[in-house]
Amino acid sequence: MQRTIAILGSTGSIGRQGLEIVRELGLPVSALTCRSNIALLAEQILEFRPGLVSVGDSRAAEQLRDILSTKFNLKASDQPEILTDNSGLETAAALPETDLVLAAVVGFAGLRPVLAALEAGKDIALANKETLVAGGEIVMELARRRQTKILPVDSEHSAIWQCLSSAPGRQFKRIFLTASGGPFRNSSKKELAAVTPAQALRHPTWEMGAKITIDSATMMNKGLEIIEACHLFSCTPAQIEVVVHPQSIVHSMVELNDGSVMAQLGFPDMRLPIRLALTWPDRPAADYYRPYDPCAEGANQLVFEPPNEELFPALQLARSAFAAGGLSPCVLNAANEAAVALFLQGKIAFPAIWQIAAEALAQVPAAANLDFATLEWAHNDTIARIMQRHP
Ligand code: NDP
Ligand code: MG
Repeated sequence: MQRTIAILGSTGSIGRQGLEIVRELGLPVSALTCRSNIALLAEQILEFRPGLVSVGDSRAAEQLRDILSTKFNLKASDQPEILTDNSGLETAAALPETDLVLAAVVGFAGLRPVLAALEAGKDIALANKETLVAGGEIVMELARRRQTKILPVDSEHSAIWQCLSSAPGRQFKRIFLTASGGPFRNSSKKELAAVTPAQALRHPTWEMGAKITIDSATMMNKGLEIIEACHLFSCTPAQIEVVVHPQSIVHSMVELNDGSVMAQLGFPDMRLPIRLALTWPDRPAADYYRPYDPCAEGANQLVFEPPNEELFPALQLARSAFAAGGLSPCVLNAANEAAVALFLQGKIAFPAIWQIAAEALAQVPAAANLDFATLEWAHNDTIARIMQRHP
């Protein structure tokens, strides 16, 4: 099936790999968006010819017009419509000609356009896990109401989804959510206190954007993924066991009701789960990936061990945020976004990321309902308070 694709966050790690798949399959592109990487967006426009793009602000829009006209000699009539800010993202997410939206913006900023896409009846290939962490209830409810599909791109969730295809009624007992453990899996408390941004940005098995790389190092990524899985697969954190698996070969496992355990395996390559979400329910033949070899170095000895939750408190923080419900997961996500930004700016130490998240979770405001405006207020308020304490 030839779907027309819009990519939100096309200049990021997932967005760029999404465009590789789009190129390989020759899919039409309706819209692309980024925040400030105008040079790359201009190249993508030249190759994929979307009718509309959206960028962070009017200055970025002006720069883009300038590059397209002067560097690429594109006549105004050959240039896409260029929009900005939140309204631009929402418009890009909801174009009539789009069949599927690849949601690859990082952080809470992705929630608003995902809601706009669902409201417009679009299927979503979802990489942007913060969307489900902060707004899982309203996202899943809107998808149900509009009868649209949310197809997981996150590799673990893609694996779980694939394992569940052999479970009648998608019923299961337990999920084993695998985690690489990040670069500090074997570090001491003392060593963690001295971790620098440069060290935390070196991930052992995956190459990803800065925020998720730090989240992987703190294991907050796995905490967010517990919440993401609870929404996607209608289960509770008690049904999800995190297993550290440093080789990142088994992308997750599911124990079915009859005791059978299904696993999905492969060398780490995000293009595979992205491609599955873009082509599902088909699986067109591909030849660009590294064929799996169970005897290859790195695959012939698979190790699984329980996470050290005392050293990495993020898993427990995520479980308690989900159990508390209300605005708690949204506040946890916001506090983590703020703390990761502060850590990358060198303003706080690595373990302070967990501390800031725990402090924010201890003072979550009550909310009568969880509509987008309330979530956005809680998100911005949490970030503002944390930033105020760390000028
Ligand atoms: P990147 O940081 O590489 O890319 C983020 C993209 O979003 C860029 O296009 C960026 O534009 C854009 N963007 C950033 N902030 C905003 C904003 N405030 N408003 C609008 N657009 C914005 O991230 P990744 O590709 O690594 O991750 C994207 C999402 O996918 C995250 O939620 C992550 O957790 C998830 N994910 C990523 C995986 C990976 O392998 N990378 C694996 C599994 C999940 P610009 O370039 O101009 O800044
Ligand atoms: Mg993942």
